[in-house]
Amino acid sequence: MTRYITIILGLFHFLAGAQHTGKVDFTEGDIHIEITPEKGLIAGKVVYRFKVSEHTDTILVSSRALQISEVTWKGEPLNYQAKGNNLMIIHTFEEGLYEDLVIQYKASPEKAVYFPGFTTTSFSEDPPVVPGEGGKQVWTQGQGKYTSSWVPSFDDMNEKVIYTMEILFPKGYELLASGQFQGKQELEDKTLWKYALKKPVSSYLLAFVGGNYRKMEERSKSGVPLEMYYYPSDSARAETTYVHSAEIFDFLENEIGVPYPWKVYRQVPVRDFLYAGMENVTLTLFSDSFITDSIGFSDKNYVNVNAHELAHHWFGNLVTEESGKHHWLQEGFATYYALLAERELFGEDYYYWKLYNSAIQLIRLSEDGKGEALLDPHAGSLTFYEKGAWALHSLKEKVGVKAFRSGVKEMLTTYGFKNIHTGIFLETLSKHTNADLEEFRSQWLEAPEFPEEEAVRSLKRNKFIRKYIEVHEDDASPVVVYNEYRNLLKEPLYFPLKQMLLERASAWPEKLRDSFWLEALRSDDLYIRQGVAMAADTIPSSLKKSFENLLDDRSYVTIQEALMKLWLAFPDERYGYLERTKDLKGFEDRSLRILWLGLALFAPEYEEDSLRFFEELQSYTGPGWQFETRQHAFEMLFEIGGVTKRSLLNLLQGLDHPAWQFSRFCRTMFDRLVLKPEVRIQLRTIMPELDPALADRLRSKLDSIKLESH
Ligand SMILES: [Zn+2]
Repeated sequence: MTRYITIILGLFHFLAGAQHTGKVDFTEGDIHIEITPEKGLIAGKVVYRFKVSEHTDTILVSSRALQISEVTWKGEPLNYQAKGNNLMIIHTFEEGLYEDLVIQYKASPEKAVYFPGFTTTSFSEDPPVVPGEGGKQVWTQGQGKYTSSWVPSFDDMNEKVIYTMEILFPKGYELLASGQFQGKQELEDKTLWKYALKKPVSSYLLAFVGGNYRKMEERSKSGVPLEMYYYPSDSARAETTYVHSAEIFDFLENEIGVPYPWKVYRQVPVRDFLYAGMENVTLTLFSDSFITDSIGFSDKNYVNVNAHELAHHWFGNLVTEESGKHHWLQEGFATYYALLAERELFGEDYYYWKLYNSAIQLIRLSEDGKGEALLDPHAGSLTFYEKGAWALHSLKEKVGVKAFRSGVKEMLTTYGFKNIHTGIFLETLSKHTNADLEEFRSQWLEAPEFPEEEAVRSLKRNKFIRKYIEVHEDDASPVVVYNEYRNLLKEPLYFPLKQMLLERASAWPEKLRDSFWLEALRSDDLYIRQGVAMAADTIPSSLKKSFENLLDDRSYVTIQEALMKLWLAFPDERYGYLERTKDLKGFEDRSLRILWLGLALFAPEYEEDSLRFFEELQSYTGPGWQFETRQHAFEMLFEIGGVTKRSLLNLLQGLDHPAWQFSRFCRTMFDRLVLKPEVRIQLRTIMPELDPALADRLRSKLDSIKLESH
C-alpha cells in the first residue's frame, strides 16, 4: 500500500513537472459562477481553450479544495483525479488546438475569497453590519492566497490566460471584476455581471468584488477611464481619498513611456483587507482604512498605495516575474515608480527623505547581520520593496536617466504579457548603456549587505538631506545652537528637520526649551506645531494657551497628542477639552473617538452620560466595524478594566478572523485577559452560548491556565 502510494505520488510529481516544460499552454478561460454570499459559496464552471504541443496523457490545473463535479471535453466526460492542489485530467491529447474543456465545481473558500458582513458568527451580541461602515461585501485576494481556491486556474505565474467572467450575484449590489464591463442582465433575484479581459494574465491577478458602491469617474490624458469607487456614506470623503489619481496615472504613463496596457482602471476600497492594496488586473482593491477627510489627509493618505498598485499594472501585470527569486522586479519597481510619482507631487526633498528613512532601516538590518539579497526568494518585504527601490534609484544614477528609461521601455514592449527574470532586465538595459551592470548585480542584487557608503553618497546630493545629517550630527550645547535653530524653523526647509530640532529641545534647560517651543507653536506650519505636540512629554504652563489651540489643528495626530497631554497636565480643565473635541470622529479607525470616550468616562461632569459612552465604546469591538477600530476599542477597554461579556464575545469572534493581523491581535489580547481570574469566571459562564468547537478550545485553554497557576 505504502509503496503503491509512493509510486503514484512519484508519477504525480513527474507529471506536475512535465506540464511546466510546456506541452500544454492554456490560452483562454471563460469563468461562469454564481456567488451565494450568505453561505460563502461559489459554484459554476470554467471553460478552457488550450494548445498541446506534444502528445500527453494528462493535463494539470490548479485546484485548491474545490469540489469538482464533472470534467468534460466537447460534452464527453473525462476521467480526472483531484490531488493536493491540482486537478489531474486524464486523457490522451495529441498535438493540436483544443476548446470546450469544461470543469464544473463548487467552492467554500476559507482563503482567497472573503465575505465581510455576509457570513456571520451567531454568538456576537453586536450586528455584523453597522450602517455607514461599508456594508456587506465579497472580495478576493489571489496573490499569496491562490485564485485556484475559487476557480480551477493556475498557481504557476508563467501560465497566462485571457479570461472572461460572468458572475451571478444577489440583486442590489455592484459587482466588479477584472476586465472591461460587458453588460449586465437582471434576473429574478440576481444580476448577471459580465467582464472580459482582452490580454493574457497570470491567474493570481484575477479578482472580483461585490458590495454597495458609488463611483467617481475621470479620464487619463490618454483616454483611459479611471473609475474610483466609494461607500455611499463616504461621498464627502471620496474626493480627498482619491486626490491626485489622474495626475499619478498621467505621470506614470509618461515616465514609463509605455501606454497603460489595459483598457480601464478601477480602484475599490474593501473592509478588513489583508494588505494595504492589491494590484488585481484593472481592479485594484485597497484597505478602507485609507479613506480620509481633509484633516486626516495630512497624517495618512492613499497617495503612495494608489501609485504603487497602478505601477504594478506594468511591473507585475504586464511583465510578470518568472519565479519568487525575481520578486523585486515587481515590488522593487512598483515601490520605486510610486516614489517617482510622489516626487512629482510632493517634491525632491520628500523623495530623498523617504529614501533616507528606508536606508536607515536597511542599514540597521545589515548591522544586525540580517541583511538579505534582493535575489533571495525568501527575503522579507523591507528587502523586496525598499531595497528594490533603492537598487533602481542607484541603477538610474549609474546608467543615466535616458538609458534607464529606454531599457525599461524596451523590456516592457518586448516582454509584455510574458514572464521575465532579472537577467532579461539587465541584458535589455545593457543595450542602452556601457555601465558595468555586473558590478550592479553583485553589489545590489546578490550581496545581502546594504551598500551603505554608496547610498549615503547618493543621499547627500540632496541639499535638505545634507543639512539634516549635519544638524543631526552636531552636538553643540543648546545655548550655542539656540539662535541657529530658531532661524532654521523659519527657513523654507522640509518639515522633518524642524521636527527633529523640536524633539532635541526636549532635553534642553526648561527656559530655552519653552521659548523655542512657544515660537514653534505660533508658526503657520501645521507640521512645526505638530512637532511640539509630539515632542512635549509634559506641558509647561507657559505653553498652555498655545497648546490648547492645537485642539483645533487640521491634523488628527496633533489633536490626539494634544488632547491626551492636556488631559494629563491640567486635570481641572478636562471637561473643557473634552467638550471642545466631542464631535470629532477622527481617522477612519475611530482612534480619536475611542480615546475621547476612554477619557470622558473619567470626567465627573459626564456622569449621566457614562453608561451611554461605555455602550458606545463597547460597540466598537463588534464585528460590524473594521478591525483597526475593534483593536483600538479592545485596547481601551483593557486599559480601563472595562472588558465585559459583550466585548469578550466579540474578542472570541475575532480569534478566527480572516485578517491575520486581527486574529493575531485577538489571540494576544485573549492571552493577556485570561490571566485575570475574573475574566476566567466570565468566560466559563458564557461557554454554553458558544458553538461546541469553540467552547472546547476555550475550556482546554482555561484548564491549561489553571494547571500553570498550581
Ligand atoms: Zn506591491
